[in-house]
Amino acid sequence: MSFSGGCYCGKIKYEADGDALMKLQCHCRECTYITGGSANLTMGVAEAGFKYTQGAPSSYKRDDIDGAVTRDFCGDCGTPLVTRLIPGAPGAVLLKIGSLDNPAEFIGPDAAIYTDEKHDFHTIADGVAQFTKLPE
Ligand SMILES: [Zn+2]
Ligand SMILES: [Zn+2]
Repeated sequence: MSFSGGCYCGKIKYEADGDALMKLQCHCRECTYITGGSANLTMGVAEAGFKYTQGAPSSYKRDDIDGAVTRDFCGDCGTPLVTRLIPGAPGAVLLKIGSLDNPAEFIGPDAAIYTDEKHDFHTIADGVAQFTKLPE
């Protein structure tokens, strides 16, 4: 399986070879800033199979919290693209489902994480495993 994606304005494109390692919805406070308020839908793939094929993203990493991830986004249109350099998932990058060329390939999450930061207006589908932080 391979996945392709990019940003809203079309400046940045990426490709990821390999199957999905994990399919998540994250309810953490950091993610709700990025999404605009909803849970963050992401799919983990091997970092080794991921590459930007057009353009270069802007990146941001908080320096005031432990275990901060690096978030890539388009510096022009702001589309969140990828989360990488993830202390809890070495060797993986998380593709933002909204940036996939075909978001339907996500099908749906396997797990909801950081549910201890979930809001009442966030919903979790039946059959989706739930973790207050990360899976052990
Ligand atoms: Zn863009
Ligand atoms: Zn999160």
